[in-house]
Amino acid sequence: MQLYQSQSLKIYNSLSGKKEIFEPLNKGHVGMYVCGPTVYSNVHLGNCRTFMSFDMIFRYFKHLGYKVRYVRNITDAGHLVDDADDGEDKIAKKARLEKLEPMEVVQRYTVDFHNILEKFNFLPPSIEPTATGHIIEQMEIIKEILQKGYAYEVNGSVYFDVAKFNETNEYGKLSGRKLKDMIANTRELTAQDEKKSPQDFALWKKAEPQHIMRWPSPWGDGFPGWHLECTAMSTKYLGETFDIHGGGMDLKFPHHECEIAQAEACNGRSPVKYWMHANMLTMNGKKMAKSTGNNILPGEIFSGENTVLSKAFAPSVVRFFMMQAHYTSILDLSNEALLASEKGYHRLMEALEVLAHLETGAQSHFDVETWKKLGYDAMNDDFNTPILIANLFDAVKRINLIKEGKESITPGDKELLQQAMNAFVFEVLGLERQSLGNGNSDKLSGVVELLIQFRMEARANKDFATSDRIRDELAALGIQLKDGKEGTTFSVS
Ligand SMILES: [Zn+2]
Repeated sequence: MQLYQSQSLKIYNSLSGKKEIFEPLNKGHVGMYVCGPTVYSNVHLGNCRTFMSFDMIFRYFKHLGYKVRYVRNITDAGHLVDDADDGEDKIAKKARLEKLEPMEVVQRYTVDFHNILEKFNFLPPSIEPTATGHIIEQMEIIKEILQKGYAYEVNGSVYFDVAKFNETNEYGKLSGRKLKDMIANTRELTAQDEKKSPQDFALWKKAEPQHIMRWPSPWGDGFPGWHLECTAMSTKYLGETFDIHGGGMDLKFPHHECEIAQAEACNGRSPVKYWMHANMLTMNGKKMAKSTGNNILPGEIFSGENTVLSKAFAPSVVRFFMMQAHYTSILDLSNEALLASEKGYHRLMEALEVLAHLETGAQSHFDVETWKKLGYDAMNDDFNTPILIANLFDAVKRINLIKEGKESITPGDKELLQQAMNAFVFEVLGLERQSLGNGNSDKLSGVVELLIQFRMEARANKDFATSDRIRDELAALGIQLKDGKEGTTFSVS
């Protein structure tokens, strides 16, 4: 028997606005699609949070024994600067500015994306398809939508006819908008606009002569609209209807709304059973944005090379910090919050170490079965990781009481507790013991502190060759030193 047969999982469905009992389309299988990154710059920490939420969700489904096909795409064409139908292609623009081939830009930032996700201990998705790898599939969908009368061609571009679609379907149902309100709130079309209505969106755009990323099509040389790739790839790998579609809150409109319209126009049925949206990450109470400088890259947190935080933080600490908030809540990153998470993370890891060596007794003061059930209840309630973590800390408290001899635990309960703790902490939350671990973390920390001391003495004696050598050789071992106002700290990557 698989674990999922004894669990009743509820998911908040953005489409219905309610928590619903999860019933997969095919028993024992889950099909999940998540909109991936547009690879034209280093991955944002906010995007990492979204992908981390779905990594946790992927992990929990797997833990429950489901066979999961998780598709997360790479957008390497078609995403224009203003997120709609105007402006330059984000990747082509970067390529022009950096004098690179567009595919060099794509390669560089895809590698960066994978590196950062690996540091955060993400599981790779089952399939990671690209937009440029599915141009033919996208053209097939356009042909189908044109044939069914929900799109029109103008001067080498093809647009989706939202008003026509809305006659028989409901455009705006995911984001809770009504087409008539949208029309009332938008500007009038100008003479040079090709669209019949501002709500219409591009399925195919004619490539201007200077546009590098272009493909021949029945409508002339051009490129697909941004929304289309996700419909093409999700349909190809998960079918016309699949279980879960996820992404960041900001993608609900227009991106996901357009995906629904395309799929319903093409296949005549709703593409997704459960829509899930992860909320955003703020920093020091404000929206994170490169333009305002209120921004930090994951790599800058790991290395400590930034002006926002007092020290470097390990990826697992940042992961733990993110897991302490529910995925649908806004989470605020600050130095204090990360310091608190670091403390909590170490307490949790130490308790696991203590648990491994705990002496057992004839009776248990701790009802491990009930405790374990509370952990699953938390996860089954729309993946409530903050409640799960609170429950883990209840166990930490009990483990420490047993260690102090104030309570006891039987060998059977100890084994059950170890199994459940390991499953929740490592399998489901995806935390890792940072590499100073293996039970020797205190000793190794002591050694690094000693080297920091030697380095300080060397600097005091103006022996910079030795001081630099200590720093560089530690860095080569993956231990970064950071000099700050309150002395030197270190982090492990
Ligand atoms: Zn998408």
